[in-house]
Amino acid sequence: MKDYFAKYRSEDEWLLKENKWDKKLQASMESQFALGNGFIGSRGILEEVPFDARPGTYIAGLYDKTGAQVPELVNLPNPVNLRIIAGGELVGAGTMDILEHKRILDMRHGLITRHTVFQNSHKKRFDYQSIRFVSMRNRHIIAMQVYITPLDEGATLTVENLLDLSVTNVGFLTEGNKKHFRIENVSRFDTGEYLSVRTLEKNILVAYGKSLIVEKNGNKRFAKDVTTQVRLKKNQTICLTSIFSIFTAENKNKASLKGVVKGFLKKSINLGFERMLKEHIAKWDKLWTASDIKIKGGKEAEKSLRFNMYHLLICGREGNGESSIGAKTLSGEGYRGHIFWDAEIFIMPFFIYNRPKAAKNMLLYRYNRLDKARQIAESRGYKGAMFPWESAGTGDETTPAWAKNFDGSLIQIRTHEMEHHITADIIYGVYKYYIATRDENFMLKYGFEMIFETARFWASRVEYNAKIKRFEINHVIGPDEFHEDVDNNAYTNYMARFNILLGYGMCQKMRRAYPREFQQLSKKINLKMSEVKAWKTIPPKIYFNIKKDGLIEQFDGFFRKKKVILKNLDKNPIPDIPRAIKLKDVGKTQLVKQADVVMLLYLFSDNFSESIKKKNFYYYFRRTVHKSSLSAAVHAAMASEIGDLKAAYRYFDVAANMDLSLAYGNTSDGMHAASLGVTWQAAIHGFAGVRIVNETLSISPALPQGWEEISFCLKWHGYNLRLIVRNDKVTLRFSSKRKSNRLKIKVFDRAYKLEPNKEVIFYDR
Ligand code: BGC
Ligand code: BGC
Repeated sequence: MKDYFAKYRSEDEWLLKENKWDKKLQASMESQFALGNGFIGSRGILEEVPFDARPGTYIAGLYDKTGAQVPELVNLPNPVNLRIIAGGELVGAGTMDILEHKRILDMRHGLITRHTVFQNSHKKRFDYQSIRFVSMRNRHIIAMQVYITPLDEGATLTVENLLDLSVTNVGFLTEGNKKHFRIENVSRFDTGEYLSVRTLEKNILVAYGKSLIVEKNGNKRFAKDVTTQVRLKKNQTICLTSIFSIFTAENKNKASLKGVVKGFLKKSINLGFERMLKEHIAKWDKLWTASDIKIKGGKEAEKSLRFNMYHLLICGREGNGESSIGAKTLSGEGYRGHIFWDAEIFIMPFFIYNRPKAAKNMLLYRYNRLDKARQIAESRGYKGAMFPWESAGTGDETTPAWAKNFDGSLIQIRTHEMEHHITADIIYGVYKYYIATRDENFMLKYGFEMIFETARFWASRVEYNAKIKRFEINHVIGPDEFHEDVDNNAYTNYMARFNILLGYGMCQKMRRAYPREFQQLSKKINLKMSEVKAWKTIPPKIYFNIKKDGLIEQFDGFFRKKKVILKNLDKNPIPDIPRAIKLKDVGKTQLVKQADVVMLLYLFSDNFSESIKKKNFYYYFRRTVHKSSLSAAVHAAMASEIGDLKAAYRYFDVAANMDLSLAYGNTSDGMHAASLGVTWQAAIHGFAGVRIVNETLSISPALPQGWEEISFCLKWHGYNLRLIVRNDKVTLRFSSKRKSNRLKIKVFDRAYKLEPNKEVIFYDR
């Protein structure tokens, strides 16, 4: 049988293949095969929506609370629903036998293609091929095409192309499934069908347009009704083309989007499937030209990395406006689509260096909720702005009060009461964005204000202990959530110190560089210089417990907890909690859920000596069980910094393949967004050794065994950098239109000022 879609497919190194349909793996594959464009996220279901499939169509930022503990990303009507019935039997997985099946995710072109041969109960075969994409070129479009051929005898097919309205959000705990929308309007027009729904809580309008074109013997017609019949001879093929458009209007009063949807759909149909697909592919080509990583001597790692980057690229958004990324991207309902520190600390660096506009949109998401953060701070008796641990549409705290623990037991959640480091994490993101982009405009409009209001928060959050003349931060949860309600968590204290100091430094800078704007902002937020002065004196007195030998205590009393040392980490880097320890008692031990002190050392790498990093890495990694997907790649990056490349590669391997190997058992709920992002960091900041030291880009590679060379592009200060990195040689080119521009850079520990548009080679001597 002709492979209709081969012409669109990339080379093998870009393809992820599903070679058989396995019901048990269905939900995980749907996450892996998710499509998206930053606006729409669409789980990679099979078009016939087999039993137990979990269709998921999400729009970034669209949340609803109805019937749920807390607001959640709305699972909208499913457009990918094409039922083909032959002789009363559904041509589909689970209903007919599957003789052959291959589904391919083309990561380079953002496409799913599929080829399945079905056999009905009378042993008659059907050849079924499909292609689907969520347009990267036009964020409102989803399109698919299906070729179907009866192979053994003629058949009459009934094609049913309904928008699937039965979709619900999955139920957590005792909630039961939830429907977050009501149907407002279903109607037909000459070239298709219109559907509008409204979310229940906020009445937000979402409108769909849909056309189905049936093509047989070169004749095309629109399917006028919901079902359409086609008579086919043996070996005769029909082609079904479905085009959908999705729009949303936050404006409650907007009566209808019908005109918009209809007009848009007509335009798309005129453009044609092929043309839309070509434009989509061209956009993907551009994205990869800017983001791809090539690894000589590491083809498997290269492919895994691409898989991670693919999933990041489909959830970042560059267009105007705000948009952040939840803990499971837009590929599933885990964590209800909420936004955590995962966004700024783990995910955002990839965008800062590849698609800075998408990074900016992530920060705008926070800025637009700064007022809410001010209210949260006030309601808890603090000053300034305090961001919620989990955030959704409004910027209110959306952490659920109850959740399931790893063993399935119910636990009360306290993160929203105590996991305060999130506020500084966001500011760390602001700072990193600024250092890499020099986006002064962003700082003037948003960044300075966020930094000052959060410095203010921390200055009110720290408590002065007059007896020992130091500031403390008590009653917190650090990144390691095994230990709740602890005092002086090293990570939190250090982050607070950073945030307050940054407030002071940026205040000085803004006063000097932008006096008029500084005055305006001071007035707006009522900032007095007396207040700012304290931002200089508080940080040095914030308690940070580092022992003489360099070991940092994770929080007060950590060293006195029951010692548990994990063994054989070289064989199994992600160990279980030893059986003798009950999950409810884990807080009494030194077992750590995820990188905490190691996280701190990673984020402030240039503030700590190599010996301190080594000391703490080896101390904490023997106690860390990586019960969070955020942990492995951070350990990889830190291990490569201290030169332990074997350990680094072990952790990198776990992180890079986390959702491919289904290592955490919950890929079905969506991709692990933080791990996607920090895996990229482990490759670029870790192995390639691209770090920011004193605000200067510095490169000191430490490639793992077998990797000969890693090449990639980065954006820095608005320049495009192209790097080819080997352990002993770095080739670099930066492009700039202005010939007078110079790039300050450190390579192999030596400082340089480079001219643009020339390739320069550095050797490690
Ligand atoms: C996470 C917390 C989160 C809670 C509720 C837990 O699994 O570790 O960070 O707040 O779930 O969503
Ligand atoms: C981790 C948090 C993380 C959250 C969402 C939790 O298990 O402990 O650090 O923010 O998951 O990914």
